[in-house]
Amino acid sequence: MSETSLRNASIDAALNEVKEAYVTGNPNSLARYVEATGVMPGGNTRTVLHYAPFPLAMTRAAGCRMWDADGHEFVDFLGEYTAGLYGHSHPVIRAALDKALDSGISYGASNMTEVRFARAVCERFGLERVRFTNSGTEANLLAISLARIYTRRPKVMVFNGGYHGAVFGFAGGGSPINAPFDYVLATYNDIEATRTLIAEHAAALALVILEPMIGSGGCVPASHDFLHMLRAETERVGALLVLDEVMTSRLAPGGLQSVIGVKPDLTTFGKYIGGGMSFGAFGGRAEIMDLFDPRRSDALPHAGTFNNNILTMSAGLAGLTDVYTADAARALNARGDALRERLNGLCKAAGAAMQFTGIGSMLAVHFTTAPIRNPADAAKADQKLKELFFFDMLAHGIWLARRGMMTLCLPIGDAECDKLAAAVQEFLEARRSLL
Ligand code: PLP
Repeated sequence: MSETSLRNASIDAALNEVKEAYVTGNPNSLARYVEATGVMPGGNTRTVLHYAPFPLAMTRAAGCRMWDADGHEFVDFLGEYTAGLYGHSHPVIRAALDKALDSGISYGASNMTEVRFARAVCERFGLERVRFTNSGTEANLLAISLARIYTRRPKVMVFNGGYHGAVFGFAGGGSPINAPFDYVLATYNDIEATRTLIAEHAAALALVILEPMIGSGGCVPASHDFLHMLRAETERVGALLVLDEVMTSRLAPGGLQSVIGVKPDLTTFGKYIGGGMSFGAFGGRAEIMDLFDPRRSDALPHAGTFNNNILTMSAGLAGLTDVYTADAARALNARGDALRERLNGLCKAAGAAMQFTGIGSMLAVHFTTAPIRNPADAAKADQKLKELFFFDMLAHGIWLARRGMMTLCLPIGDAECDKLAAAVQEFLEARRSLL
């Protein structure tokens, strides 16, 4: 046997062992899973939450802690894939929701809170106009459709490994369930190739859409030069630049775009901005957004029963104005930067082929020392070790995404960061021969 196949066999053996312990230790989660398979395909209604042999079911959460159906306690380092920024049942958000419930919900009418929330979102992220949706997927669907109508062009440039929602998945190039737009697929962070592709499709290109840091594809930041090139080239050919800040708007008070100094034509939002309720939004230049102005004879329609629902408007407004202030955003992301540097220091000291990428309060683990410039680089790293890391972290009481992504929520403090660092150090020691 070669050294590589010996190592692979050892990783497989370690994985079998941790999964056996997992199955034995989680009978109630297993029973729930078996029951769920009878009524939902594969027992699942949100693909990202599934993993083999079966996912844990959570039954309770408070602050930055969660408890599963078998009574295990976890520190929530997933933070609901960035949507759970406030932690579980933050008292300010809770009070805003209680107050809203006391006044009745589902008015089927305009309400007072949506204006205040719209103003807060516009001021925070430098938008001239905003419209609300119920999810980030919907926000991107509307923004893309709007850009195509505004420019009277059909093509949509996206990036390999990008993700903009349930019908906008571009891992491995695309997904059969994607919304049927005319896509041009480019390579993230490849300045010259992307510039050439934009020039090639110039006359038909309606928009370029991307995250300023790819989140689900492995927390891969765009280089500032890449984003400035996209701004210049889209302007040159008359296409719109749409920044998907559904995840990354949390990384600085004005979103990641404010750090990079690139002003897009439209920005899309989601996740934590709704205070933990269902949320999406898109906004930007008035000249484009005002195509939805219902006073116009040629106004575009944009329906959505729950677009201005009072629970989201109330929780979102309280969160953005009273909790996640500019100072709180800076502090949370400084904590994240320090944590990532600390974890990378442990990997380096152990001489392990392991690194944590990301910015501020979002990070992801990769089992390679090679630079990660785009999601394809991330996909080349060892995936079995990532699976082993996931199960080892669960055994240490750390809740994270199966794909190795973690995000910080506001209640996470020094003690929780110490607990994660200790778990990573133990992993580095226990799995030394495999890394
Ligand atoms: N855009 C990005 C960058 C995302 O990460 C996500 C969700 O993970 C979405 C859009 C879709 O948001 P939602 O799940 O609310 O539809």
